[in-house]
Amino acid sequence: MMEVQDSNEITERNIMLPPPVGIFQTREDLLKHVRDFALTQGYMVSIKDSSKDRYVTIACDRGGLYRKRLKTGENMRQRKTSSRLTNCPFEVVGKKDDDLWTLSIKHGEHNHEPSNDISDHPSCRRFTEEEVIIIREMTAAGKRPRQILKVLRQRNPNLVSDSRNVYNVKAKIRREILSGKSMDSPSTSSGTINVNGTEASAATAPFQPMVQNGTAVAESTQACLESNPVKETRALVSELCRHFYTLGWVSGTGGSITMKVHDDSIPKPHQLVVMSPSGVQKERMVPEDMYVLSSDGFILSMPPFKPYPHAPPKCTDCAPLFLKVYGMRNAGAVIHSHGMESCLVTMIHPFSKEFRITHMEMIKGIQGHGYHDELVVPIIENAAHEGDLTESLIEAIRAYPKTTAVLVRNHGVYIWGDSWISAKTQAECYHYLFDAAIKLHQLGLDWSTPSHGPIRNVNGVCGCGGNMSRGLKAGALGLDYVIEPSQRCILLEIEGTTTPTSFVTDVLFPYVNDNVVKHLTATYDSEETQDDINLLRSQIQSDLEQGVVGAVPVPPDYMGKELVIASLAANVEAMIAADRKVTALKQLQGHIWRTGFQRNELVGMVFDDVPEALERWQSSGIKVYIYSSGSREAQQLLFGNSNYGDLRKYLCGFFDTTVGSKKETQSFVDILQTVGVDRPADLLFVTDAFQEAVAARAAGLEVIISIRPGSGPLPENHGFRTVESLLEI
Ligand SMILES: [Zn+2]
Ligand SMILES: [Zn+2]
Repeated sequence: MMEVQDSNEITERNIMLPPPVGIFQTREDLLKHVRDFALTQGYMVSIKDSSKDRYVTIACDRGGLYRKRLKTGENMRQRKTSSRLTNCPFEVVGKKDDDLWTLSIKHGEHNHEPSNDISDHPSCRRFTEEEVIIIREMTAAGKRPRQILKVLRQRNPNLVSDSRNVYNVKAKIRREILSGKSMDSPSTSSGTINVNGTEASAATAPFQPMVQNGTAVAESTQACLESNPVKETRALVSELCRHFYTLGWVSGTGGSITMKVHDDSIPKPHQLVVMSPSGVQKERMVPEDMYVLSSDGFILSMPPFKPYPHAPPKCTDCAPLFLKVYGMRNAGAVIHSHGMESCLVTMIHPFSKEFRITHMEMIKGIQGHGYHDELVVPIIENAAHEGDLTESLIEAIRAYPKTTAVLVRNHGVYIWGDSWISAKTQAECYHYLFDAAIKLHQLGLDWSTPSHGPIRNVNGVCGCGGNMSRGLKAGALGLDYVIEPSQRCILLEIEGTTTPTSFVTDVLFPYVNDNVVKHLTATYDSEETQDDINLLRSQIQSDLEQGVVGAVPVPPDYMGKELVIASLAANVEAMIAADRKVTALKQLQGHIWRTGFQRNELVGMVFDDVPEALERWQSSGIKVYIYSSGSREAQQLLFGNSNYGDLRKYLCGFFDTTVGSKKETQSFVDILQTVGVDRPADLLFVTDAFQEAVAARAAGLEVIISIRPGSGPLPENHGFRTVESLLEI
C-alpha cells in the first residue's frame, strides 16, 4: 500500500527547479552550489564538458541514452546506472569572466521524475529529532507529505523544508522498514537526520552550508526572513560590529559576531542565525551585509554582490566554530574578538593551557562566577585557518563545562552567552581581566593569586629569566616589597626524564653513523676536526692495546684522507654500538649533531609536559639544571632546538660527565657545591635510572624517579616517589 501511495505523491510535485543563477568566486563554489541545489530537488548532476579555466557544462546525470547492449567487462552496477538514462536535456553552464564564475541556465527542465534515492543527503537532515518522530508517526498513520508539512510548520514557522524533504525522510523510513530496522527506536535510526540540539550530534555532524533557492524556500520562510525580528537582529549585529571596531576587537576585518534571531515561540536550538560576513570593513557594516542561516547552518540569505574593489560576499570563516558553540552550549550569541589583550595574555606563559585569575571585581561579570572564585579560561593553539580550530574548540568546550570563553593562542578569543547582552557583557569583562593580567604582570605582580603579590622570583641571582630587569622596574615604580630569595633547585636528567630514550637511540646515534664520513670529509682540515681526530686516534690506540672488540687501526695521514676517514668511521660505529662513554666519541658526536641541528635535520625531542613544567618552575623562582651523560654542548643543542623551540631560557646550567658519572655519589656532592643550596635536600634530582637515584640520595638530595614509556623496571620497595609527568612535581 505504502509503495502506491508514495508514487502518487511524486506526481503531486514533480517539478524540479534549476539552481538559482549567480556569480561565484571559484569553479568549485559554483559546482557545489549546483550539486547541492540539485539534491534538494531530487536530481543529480555531473560535469559534461569543461575547460579548466574557461567554462564548465553541467548536465543532469540522467542525460544520455539507454544502452541496450552491455559492453564486455561492464558489471551489473554500471548496467543499473545506464538503465536510468532518459536523455534528459537539463543543462547549466558556468563561465569564467574577470576571475569570477557566472552560472547560467541552458535548459532548465527534466524529462523524468525526481529520484527517491537521495535521502541520505544533508538536504533531508533539516528536521530535528522530534520532527522526524512526527514524520514517522504521521507516515505510519497514512498521512501525505503536504499534510505532514502543514503540521510541522504549525509547530515551527521557520521550518526550512518543503514536501520534497518530507518525502525524502519518508522514503528513508520506508527503506528502514523494508530492511527490517525497528521504527520504535528513533534515537538510533534517525541519528543521521538530526544535526540539532544534542551535544553529540552537534560535535560530529559536518558543517555543510548550502545556498537555498529563494523560490524553493517555502513562502512562510521567505516571509520570516523579511520579518522584523530578522531585520532587528541584522541591524544589531552590524551596530555591534561598528562598536567593537572602536574597541579594537574586530579591526583589520578580523573577528566576527553571530546572534540567534530571538522568538519566544521557537526553542533556541531552532531559531534562525545571523552572522557577520568575512572580509568586510567592520566599522562600515550595514544590516544588508549580514548572512542569515537556518539553525543547522544552511545559508538562507546572503548579501548582494558588490563591484570592485569589494570582494564577492563570503560568510565568516568562524561559521563552523559558531555553529558548534550554538549546538554544544545553547548560546544566544557568540563574539569572536581579535582584541590585543586577548592575544597578548596567551603569550605570557606560552606553554600554559589555561588562563587563571581570581579576586578581581570584574570576575562577577562572568556567568556563574563570584569575586572569590577562580576564573579558568582554556587556551587552544592557533592554526593557519580559522576553520582548523574547530576540533580543538570542541575539545576545550567539553573539557571545561563551566567556561563561556575559549582563548586562541596568539590570536584572540571566542566568547558566548545566552543572549547578545550576556555575550557582550561577558566579552567586556573578559577583555578587562585579560588587560588587568597583562598590566599586573608588567608590574611584577602575580595575577593568579588572591593577594596579587609579587611574582616569586630570585631577583638577579640566576640571571636566566629576565628577573633582574623586572625587579628593577618594580623598584623604579617605588613599589615597596621584598622579594624573598628561594633556594630551591631542580636537577633533571635527559634520557627517560625530559626526552624519550628512543630519541637518543633511534635518532641521534643513527644520525652520527649516517653523517660521520660526510662530516669528517667536509671539515677535515679544520682545527676542530683535527683535534677530534687526534683524540680518537689516541683512544683507538689504547683500545687496541687493551684488545677492545671493534677497534681497528687507523692508517697514518700520508695514506690519504679517504682511508683515514673510512677507518675512523668504522671505529666510531663500533663505539656507538658498544655504547662507549668516552670523551673522544662524545666530542665528535657533539660536532656532528651541531651541524645537524643547524641544518634543521635534527630537532630535540622533549615530552609534552616539559616546557610547561620548566615555565612554571621558572615563574615560581625555582632554578633548573640539566645533568646528562651527553656532552654539555649536545645538551644545549637539544634544548636550544627542541620541538617546543628554544627552551634554554628556562635552564640555569648544564652538567655532564666531566663532573663525574651519574652513578657516583661524589658527582652529586660536587654539583651541590656548584649550585650553592643551603641544604642538600633543597636540590631535587629527577631521573629514570634507579642506580642514579640511589647515588643522589646518598649525597642527601631529594630524588624523584620519572616513569616514561619504555623506562626500565624498578626493584620492589625501591622507596622513591615516582611521577609520569614533570607537571606532577
Ligand atoms: Zn534530469
Ligand atoms: Zn580569528
